[in-house]
Amino acid sequence: MKIVLLIVVLIVFPITAYADEGGFKKSKKLMGTEMEITVVSADEKAAHKVIDAAFAEIRRIEELMSTYIPESQISKINSAAGKKAVKVDHELLRLIKRAVEYAEMTEGGFNIAVGPLIKLWRVSEGGNIPKKDEIKKTHEIIDYRDIVINEKKETVFLKKNGMAIDLGGIAKGYASDRAEIVLKKNGIVSGIVAVAGDINAFGKKADGNKWRVGIQHPRKKGTFIGIIELEDEAVSTSGDYERFFIRDGKRYHHIIDPKTGEPAGKCQSVTIIAKEATATDALSTGIFVMGPEKGMELIERLPDVEGIIIDAKGNMAVSSGLKNRIKDK
Ligand code: AMP
Ligand code: MG
Repeated sequence: MKIVLLIVVLIVFPITAYADEGGFKKSKKLMGTEMEITVVSADEKAAHKVIDAAFAEIRRIEELMSTYIPESQISKINSAAGKKAVKVDHELLRLIKRAVEYAEMTEGGFNIAVGPLIKLWRVSEGGNIPKKDEIKKTHEIIDYRDIVINEKKETVFLKKNGMAIDLGGIAKGYASDRAEIVLKKNGIVSGIVAVAGDINAFGKKADGNKWRVGIQHPRKKGTFIGIIELEDEAVSTSGDYERFFIRDGKRYHHIIDPKTGEPAGKCQSVTIIAKEATATDALSTGIFVMGPEKGMELIERLPDVEGIIIDAKGNMAVSSGLKNRIKDK
């Protein structure tokens, strides 16, 4: 039974998957990805209603932050790049500010100003290999320090023409955190929110055990590198196997190293555990770019942050606080 369950779940979540469950659940496609929410509740109808409220919250965030929606505030900031400051919701301003903090923390590995490079590579639309000089031209317009945040006026201004913010590396984590807040406000004390690979687990399963999350092996589809029990924690995985295309036998994936303008090459996957998915999402992306040495140093330095890094050769490193928490079944 358990084996069947693992396989079914893996189809839905190629990135990180539940190892098991307990409660009522529902999945939906939003933010261009599959997501699933499970809640422990005595009342199935009420549970589904609450889950729908959490999905509505995620949809609200998508409408605010997606670069695929022309009316979104992010699209408005981007189309005013080099021209004028754009008034935005306090919530978006705060998230952009946090994203800049993660950029500083990861030495620019995490960089929401990568928009122009994302547009060049088009990994989510099938892929395109840009010419070297096209990549070079973006160099001037991908500096996150050129994002001007005015907290008093609540505006965001991109200093240079052609700049573009892309929140793809943090918005799903933020959405996962917000969905959890909505569930809790509606009386749910235990559940798991999986916005693709950005997962929040709170409370315990119906059987009293902790929620278990399987971490996907980056090269062996359907195999876990380990299972971690979570309680009031978030986990995110960034991997080169999530969104990619292959050209002439070479893998090109969706996490771009702002220094080279090409897909980051130092890791196959990075899993981060912390209190909030906004943090785990940004850090997993940023540490993926930083690579195993600097990345693990950062994980060890940050309080309440643990992680697993699989380097480009497939070697796995686990942070000190996580070593005895990884299970093989
Ligand atoms: P994730 O799956 O959370 O690791 O985020 C990957 C997504 O973040 C990509 O699909 C892009 O939208 C965006 N992204 C790519 N490279 C970076 C980067 N170096 N810093 C921040 N966001 C990035
Ligand atoms: Mg991320």
